[in-house]
Amino acid sequence: MSEPVSITVAHGDGIGPEIMAATLHILEQSGAALKIETIEIGEKVYLAGNSSGIEESSWESLRRTKVFLKAPITTPQGGGFKSLNVTVRKTLGLYANVRPCVSYHPFVQTKHPGMDVVIVRENEEDVYGGIEYRQTDQVTQCLKLISRPGSEKIVRYAFEYARRNNRKKVTCFTKDNIMKITDGLFHKVFDEIATQYPEIENEHWIVDIGAAKLADTPTAFDCVVMPNLYGDVLSDVAAQIAGSVGLAGSANIGEKVAMFEAIHGSAPRRAGQNLANPSGLLLGAVMMLVHINQTEAAERVHNAWLRTMEDGVHTYDIYKEGISKEKVGTKEFAEAVVQRLGQSPQILKSAKYQKVERKAAPEETVTIIRTKAKKELVGVDVFLDWSAGSASELGMAISGLDAGDLKLGTISNRGVKVWPGGHAETFCSDHWRCRFLPQIEGSIIGPEEIVSLLKRLNEAGYDSIKTENLYNFDGERGYSLDQGA
Ligand code: NAD
Repeated sequence: MSEPVSITVAHGDGIGPEIMAATLHILEQSGAALKIETIEIGEKVYLAGNSSGIEESSWESLRRTKVFLKAPITTPQGGGFKSLNVTVRKTLGLYANVRPCVSYHPFVQTKHPGMDVVIVRENEEDVYGGIEYRQTDQVTQCLKLISRPGSEKIVRYAFEYARRNNRKKVTCFTKDNIMKITDGLFHKVFDEIATQYPEIENEHWIVDIGAAKLADTPTAFDCVVMPNLYGDVLSDVAAQIAGSVGLAGSANIGEKVAMFEAIHGSAPRRAGQNLANPSGLLLGAVMMLVHINQTEAAERVHNAWLRTMEDGVHTYDIYKEGISKEKVGTKEFAEAVVQRLGQSPQILKSAKYQKVERKAAPEETVTIIRTKAKKELVGVDVFLDWSAGSASELGMAISGLDAGDLKLGTISNRGVKVWPGGHAETFCSDHWRCRFLPQIEGSIIGPEEIVSLLKRLNEAGYDSIKTENLYNFDGERGYSLDQGA
């Protein structure tokens, strides 16, 4: 037997302790070599006055073992309690959320027999920075951040995952027909990295039609990689349409630490009754065994579990008269899996995992080194909180101001160009973007010109709520144009 690997385990709340006990029992019997450190997280910790739901000492265990098997927890209702999942994910830099969504037809009811899709969701960026502002009486803003290193890490992870798991295709979903710079970067990085994996097919879909296709014909997809928000929504959709939310596990992978869990919550109403299905957490634990390279144990557990599904030994949530054979509780289900360790499924595809060559540094996630682009300041957008009239009145007034070395180019409202020109039908809020460009077209400006412009606007009584500098990078425009411009 190999050297035991230390892992950190949290038993969680609600059904958590029962499904964790069942999972650990199966792992113990499978020959997995594990040394368990237990930590307390969740409701008790929250209610003891720790708003993050996790003690300082628990972070030490996680940093030591670098592997976290986590049961679901209950986030108490009411304000002030931060989501532990988000805290753990961000603190430990768990940039990849991996969720296999598989149907187990004909043993578990599903609308999509044959579905076997893995959603790889970027987990740190996009709108999940939670950087939001109310800027005017009428308008709020959320910042969407997509970085090149963040996109490279997740896209590379998706291709490496596909290669390791013998997957044939990686699909990318974005909305780069609208968000040409942010989603455009994600798509561009996808295209660049895809060329390094010629044996794996690649394709890109706009997320709306891609999502529709995924919900309708999931068998058209294999691995799907996407930015955070689309991944959040579509990983739930994919798990649900596989017919098996209670059966899905997930991995949150970082460069140093990884966390494994079921996708469902703590189902408090089912707690303490020996009813809950431990399969989601168990399949999360299988991903953990693969991650720590105990692939034989991972295969033994996964195949015994598949065989249990085939034999119709089901918990209440998936039990169906005519399909299932025996309705069992949490403990009995675990025992049924233990009895089948060493067996394989007869109809469902059996699980096969490849060992991963461990590299000293996570080479596969290293950012491609390139020279820094030449950045030139070519203008500024000044956003005004203004509600004293129409777009043309604002345009007239501001273009009449002495703006120093800059001149007013356009005004837009919520992205639509309203001056010069514009249409009477366009609804205008109190949030105006005034784009200032150099008096001499194509010249480069300095920050002092922006400061002086803001001063003049302020003196003229305008409420500038924010500015965005307009840059070119290696001569390429680094800002979007107005809609209708
Ligand atoms: P939930 O997933 O806990 O439960 C929804 C329903 O699904 C349950 O009522 C139950 O009927 C069924 N169910 C879920 N898991 C099951 C299982 N293993 N076996 C059998 N049936 C199962 O969602 P919820 O009720 O919205 O949330 C309950 C609590 O869980 C909340 O406090 C929420 O914050 C928390 N939560 C935690 C996590 C996590 O820790 N990762 C994730 C989601 C929700």
